[in-house]
Amino acid sequence: MTTPPVCDYEGSDYQTSFWDKGGREYEDRTEAIALKRLLPKSGHLLLELGAGAGRNTPRYLGFDRIVLLDYSRTQLEQAQQRLGKSDKYVYVAADVYRLPFVDGLFDAATMIRILHHMADARKALDQVKNVLGLDGVFILEFANKLHLKAIFRYLLGRQKWSPFTLEPVEFVKLNFDFHPKAVKNWLKDLGFKIEKTLTLSHFRIGLLKRLVPTGVLVFLDSLSQWTGAFWQLSPSVFMKVVRRDGIRPHKQDNILLYFKCPDCGHSPLIEKENCLECSNCQKKWGFKDGIFDFRGFKDGIFDFREPVINGSS
Ligand SMILES: [Zn+2]
Repeated sequence: MTTPPVCDYEGSDYQTSFWDKGGREYEDRTEAIALKRLLPKSGHLLLELGAGAGRNTPRYLGFDRIVLLDYSRTQLEQAQQRLGKSDKYVYVAADVYRLPFVDGLFDAATMIRILHHMADARKALDQVKNVLGLDGVFILEFANKLHLKAIFRYLLGRQKWSPFTLEPVEFVKLNFDFHPKAVKNWLKDLGFKIEKTLTLSHFRIGLLKRLVPTGVLVFLDSLSQWTGAFWQLSPSVFMKVVRRDGIRPHKQDNILLYFKCPDCGHSPLIEKENCLECSNCQKKWGFKDGIFDFRGFKDGIFDFREPVINGSS
């Protein structure tokens, strides 16, 4: 089975260089506000897609259990160090195009700053839909190609691509910005109901960030976020959508029963030493030091597919 290339943060110091020391306090705090406005206060099981080093995970603590998924094992190891090993957190290294979960499992899912790296966004969204249960809430963030800076640059002839057309723009290899209408079309096609749209990072301008206190910018952004209901012209857009079909998730506490074989779809998998085995296709999936690994496990060697790109955004 072929799937689109993935952007792998394996070995990346993304958390430190981009967030902790990268002057991104403004972006981080505006995301916290948006999540608070969109996410249900409580629930049973939440899937965090592209969890990275767990920056947002503490914001989901109203949920009984959180499954952190990332393609990079080293990012998950950083998350583990930050959050600790407990039943509250399940760490899964997997490809978003081949999610290793049974259908209708989750009450909620979040995908923040991840669609940005999806060469086939619709396919990724389809995978998310499948693992959400009936009335499951999905919080999606995407980078907006129709933001004011891009519009001005285009109108002044300083940018070749048009921000007004529906196709994604890949401005750096495996970094995509999307037109809000295109994302809405995909979500509607997949049967999601769009409940709320917020726009973020209205003041992501270097000079402003240097001159104006972060708290002031965060406050102004928190007011501006609501304009997302009418138009989306900021660099980052958050949507709350709900799955309107499928089965209602029943509370499942046995973590093993969450999983299916990402190759053949069979479940349940059988627990073996350091791995989970599929009794249908005999594939083995890794489990080591508290991290499940569904990226490809051949003869004890992890099989990394496609180009490895250490992301910077
Ligand atoms: Zn299988």
